[in-house]
Amino acid sequence: SQEAYDFIQTAYSISEQFDTPVLFRITTRVAHSKSVVEVDEEKFRHVRSKRFHHDVEKYVMLPTNARVRVPNMHRRMIELEEYSETTPLNQVVDGNNNTGIISSGVGYSYAREVYPDATFFKLGMTYPLPAKTLKQFADKVKKIFVVEELDPFLEENIKVLGIHVEGKKHLPRFGELNTPIVHHAAVQAGTICHVNKPVEINPLKNLPGRPPLLCPGCPHAGAFFVLSTIGQRSKILDASGKSEKESKLIITGDIGCYTLATYAPLRAIDTTACMGASIGQAIGLEKAGVSSDVIAVIGDSTFMHSGITGLIDAVYNDSKITIVILDNGTTAMTGHQDHPGSGVSAQGCNTTKVDIENIVRGSGVTDLQVVNSFDIKSVRSAIRSALDNKALSVVLVRGQCAVANKKKKNQRQIDTDKCNDCGVCLMIGCPAIQRKDGKLNIDVATCMGDECAVCEQLCPKKAISPITEKVNS
Ligand code: SF4
Ligand code: SF4
Repeated sequence: SQEAYDFIQTAYSISEQFDTPVLFRITTRVAHSKSVVEVDEEKFRHVRSKRFHHDVEKYVMLPTNARVRVPNMHRRMIELEEYSETTPLNQVVDGNNNTGIISSGVGYSYAREVYPDATFFKLGMTYPLPAKTLKQFADKVKKIFVVEELDPFLEENIKVLGIHVEGKKHLPRFGELNTPIVHHAAVQAGTICHVNKPVEINPLKNLPGRPPLLCPGCPHAGAFFVLSTIGQRSKILDASGKSEKESKLIITGDIGCYTLATYAPLRAIDTTACMGASIGQAIGLEKAGVSSDVIAVIGDSTFMHSGITGLIDAVYNDSKITIVILDNGTTAMTGHQDHPGSGVSAQGCNTTKVDIENIVRGSGVTDLQVVNSFDIKSVRSAIRSALDNKALSVVLVRGQCAVANKKKKNQRQIDTDKCNDCGVCLMIGCPAIQRKDGKLNIDVATCMGDECAVCEQLCPKKAISPITEKVNS
């Protein structure tokens, strides 16, 4: 973390010094790790002038200005190449010269463990590369192995310099690296001869699979349950989400916790591409003439981020789709950040709440229904009526995120005398409903009780009730 923190400061300095954008790239393990960093308080005190510097030739990319900027950019790249030769971001760590390792990012740490005695070229600045210093390095060592995650970016760019290196011939091109993987590749490449294998920590065998699920009491579960039952979608699709038959309903999904509704038992999402794509994809499918009804499902924060343009597109193109906006009042997937619809700014201050209903109506949508996400009858009837209306419809399904809701009480229980094991409640995918000793029961520690009660509404045998009620079993 300290290096990442320091590198960010250096990135800003490079940007200022060379008047250039700088891309700061990290891979998975660095993004998922954290440790204490020493903060340079002094640097924060020297905030530069906040005034805007008028420079039309630089900031207005009309062709006349762009023509001047391109040669500038080439000049800047030459200066940056010079800089990369001397910057402390790039370091040679001396060791024995039989093998030279060129690495960057977290791959460097794995490689250090595998090659404790090798000579290293640790690249902190990977573009442009320090060509001269790399050639000197290549002259010094007998063989070079490049350790990098994902695509062979360094390897290919170093080969372009005329330096013979190996890397992805032995290392995987996808997924994360770790010390055992680098060790295995090093043995394969003949760069280490001893087989002193690092200890691999494997998960215990025969653990039950635990796919990611929506939380107990998730406000999205009921809406997806309703969607999954339309045209018996969840029965038509096989375990991998494929089907020979065409379902009555195509559901284009979006980015958020609710993408998890793709998995069984809900199986209520057919596509997910990028933020806001659900509506555009739904318009495209409908315009292409698919025979099924098309529903786009998008969360509130994703709608604010990039769903509004899709909505306007749908209105403008007279699209006959249904858009379901799942409004849980937060950006749950990434840690409950506020968004324009939450009424709280990114700085945590109260601010004007951007109203989704006003946006929808203001865009020209005439069929808008707002329903409580925990009222399954209302959700079902709103979605059915939207599908029956052969025009653009929006259903706003509103309910608080279960993780943000601290009010849970009156958890539910299952009366096993009444329960006939029909499995309907299991189709919501609520993790609080479990099977123990062959019988279904509800985990009181995780059930949201009165704040949800979705399973109770669905049970055909009225076997689910608040825990405060007396049951026979
Ligand atoms: S829906 Fe009701 S009857 Fe069916 S399995 Fe669940 S608790 Fe039992
Ligand atoms: S009320 Fe039912 S569906 Fe809701 S959290 Fe509890 S067990 Fe799950």
